[in-house]
Amino acid sequence: MLNVIENLPEGILELEASELHQVLAGPTLIHLSGRREEPLFVSVLLHGNEDTGWQAIRALLKKMQGIELPRALSIFVGNVNAAREGRRFLDGQPDFNRVWEDVPGNEALPERKMMRQIVDDMRERKVFASVDVHNNTGLNPHYACVRVLDNHHLHLATLFSRTVVYFLTPAGVQTAPFAEICPSVTIEAGQAGQSHGFEHTLAFLDACLHLSHLPDHPVPAHDIDLYHTVAVCKVPPEASFGFGGDQLDLNFVEDLDHLNFRELPVGTTLARIPGDELKLVVRDESGAEVTARYFELADGELRTTLPFMPSMLAMDETAIRQDCLCYLMERHPGA
Ligand SMILES: [Zn+2]
Repeated sequence: MLNVIENLPEGILELEASELHQVLAGPTLIHLSGRREEPLFVSVLLHGNEDTGWQAIRALLKKMQGIELPRALSIFVGNVNAAREGRRFLDGQPDFNRVWEDVPGNEALPERKMMRQIVDDMRERKVFASVDVHNNTGLNPHYACVRVLDNHHLHLATLFSRTVVYFLTPAGVQTAPFAEICPSVTIEAGQAGQSHGFEHTLAFLDACLHLSHLPDHPVPAHDIDLYHTVAVCKVPPEASFGFGGDQLDLNFVEDLDHLNFRELPVGTTLARIPGDELKLVVRDESGAEVTARYFELADGELRTTLPFMPSMLAMDETAIRQDCLCYLMERHPGA
């Protein structure tokens, strides 16, 4: 399933994400040599509709054409077939960012095997650092996510944004195995197609490629806003939902995504609910259902019962169905 190549296919830097299938037979790992031998690893298009990573790496490579790279660079171009159709993943495919570690049910998938092969290869090459580039669908600040609270990881994260999210769920993400072998971040570069997300990602990748090392000392507290993802909130498949109206199982408020990264006071209304059943499931990091800890149904409204900060809220039905409604975060103590 995985193609491994050691140079750039002719013309690839002229192609949009949706055109990559013309020169790449499928998911492809590209190893490029550079002055420092321990490679920077960058994954793009794990989600086929999130093309800022490809746009940025393409621009970086164009800029460096004819020049020796300051460091070896390994690029994983992920879901080329879904990118062709502008979708997160295709019917019959797993989510390419949920198969990087064994999760019940995924162990035998060819995609799971492919990611294992990539991690093994990069470990062998003594990978310097790992960056996984994503977009999201709602209104969110640019932020970086880390799986471990280690100075190197946090320095890499704050090179992208002072807003950093420490997360342990969902399982199977790219950062999970990479965090065990090198400084590792997932970056969320706003919505696909936004020029400032592209420029910001390009500048970040350029900086990563030129880094000789990451500092050992802690990131100063005034340079970081650190949050911890404590739960994920999903709409069950049988529930109907929409925005603004009042006829469906869940009628979310308009401008729902304006609540992202804002500390919501207790009693904040997120939806109108006509019936007496709350069709929403919140699970904590251990997978236990904790819906009643965070939400109540009162006077026909879905209201918060604990202070928290949401991220990834979106007004996009497909994103909510394929991924989740949002993550719930708390400010991490000590930072
Ligand atoms: Zn994504």
